[in-house]
Amino acid sequence: MPERDPRLDPQPFLIKLLRQYAAGSDSLQVVNSDNPLCTLFCLHKKSTKHDLDKESIKFEIHENARLSKLLSLKGPKLKVQDVIFESQPGLWVNGYFLWPVLRDNSKNLPCLICIPGHGCVEDIVGVGSQQSEISESHGYQNEFALRLAQRGYPVFAIEQLGFGKRQFKENFFDKPMQTSCNKPGKLLLAVNSSLLAFRVHDVKRAVDFVRTRPEISAAKIGLVGISAGGTTALVSAALDPRVKLTAVSGALCSMVDCFADQEHCLCNYVPGLLQIADIPSIAGRIAPRFLVIEHGKNDSTNLFAQFKTAKSIVLQAYSKVGAARNLVFDEFNGGHYFNGSEIYKRLAATFPQGVEIDSTP
Ligand SMILES: [Zn+2]
Repeated sequence: MPERDPRLDPQPFLIKLLRQYAAGSDSLQVVNSDNPLCTLFCLHKKSTKHDLDKESIKFEIHENARLSKLLSLKGPKLKVQDVIFESQPGLWVNGYFLWPVLRDNSKNLPCLICIPGHGCVEDIVGVGSQQSEISESHGYQNEFALRLAQRGYPVFAIEQLGFGKRQFKENFFDKPMQTSCNKPGKLLLAVNSSLLAFRVHDVKRAVDFVRTRPEISAAKIGLVGISAGGTTALVSAALDPRVKLTAVSGALCSMVDCFADQEHCLCNYVPGLLQIADIPSIAGRIAPRFLVIEHGKNDSTNLFAQFKTAKSIVLQAYSKVGAARNLVFDEFNGGHYFNGSEIYKRLAATFPQGVEIDSTP
C-alpha cells in the first residue's frame, strides 16, 4: 500500500471549497483585474500582486540522505531535500529540492522550478513513485529535473494538483494515474474555476518559496515544464514577472486545435479561456523575457502541424516588442518527450551558474 502525508490529499480541501460556495461563503473570490487573465487564473484578490513572498509561507524541509546517495550514483553529487509547502490554507504541495554539490558555497544561484506532465514529480526527478529506488525507465519526462540539477542548477521539482501524491484517494490507492484529473477537474468546473488555475497558483507560491532561500537569486528564477506541466509554466510565466526564463517541451498548442482534433485530458479545459486568449497568445505575453520552446516533429499528443501555427503567434508577439532574440524554438526529430538540447544551451547562456560542480567521488 503506498504511503503519503495526509495533508497532500486534495479531496477534503476541494469538498470544503464547494460547500463554502454552495453556502454562499466562498473563500475563492472572483478577481476583477485590469489583466483579464487574472480573472481566470488568480484565485484570490491578493494573488494579482507579486509580493506574496513577504507573507509567511508554511513549509517543511527534510534532508533525504538516501535519495541524495542514490541520485548521486547517476552523475555529479546532489543533495536532495523533501519539501512540502502550503499553497493556500489547507492545500499542500510536495516536491524535491535538488542541490548540486558545488565546489564553493556560492550565493546568488539560479533556481529552476520544474513541473511534470501527466505522471508524477518522481518521473522528472528520476526516482520510483514510491521513492524505493532510482527509476529504470525514463519515460517521456526523461528525468529532466535531475538532468538540469546534474548540469549545476538548483532545481525545485513540484507536484501538480491531480498527479502523484496529490491525487484523490481512489486514484492514489487503487487506480494510480488513471483519469486522476477527472474528479478534481469536475469539482473545480462547478465553481467556474479549473485545475490549471490551481496549478498556476501553486507555481506562484513555489516562486515565493524559492525566493526565501538564501542561496537563490530572486533575479534568476526560471520555470521548466513538459506537456501539461509546460502549459502550467506558460500561463504562470505570463502572469508572474518574477519568472525570468521559461522553457517548455511538447506544450505549445492552440486549445482550439487541440480540442477539435484530439481527445485531451479535462485539465486542459478552462471555462471562458477562449473569450480572453488562447495558449499561444498567453505565451506571447511572456515577452520580452526568455522563452525556449521545444517540440518533437512526431509529437502525437500535441501535433506538430498545430505547434507550427501556434509558433507563429508567439513569434509575432515577441517581434512586436523587439524581443525575437529572446525566443528560441527547437523542432527536434522525435515525439512527445523531453529532448532538452536547446533548453540546456539557452539556460547555460542565460543563467550561467558561475560555479563548478564538485565531481570528486
Ligand atoms: Zn490531466
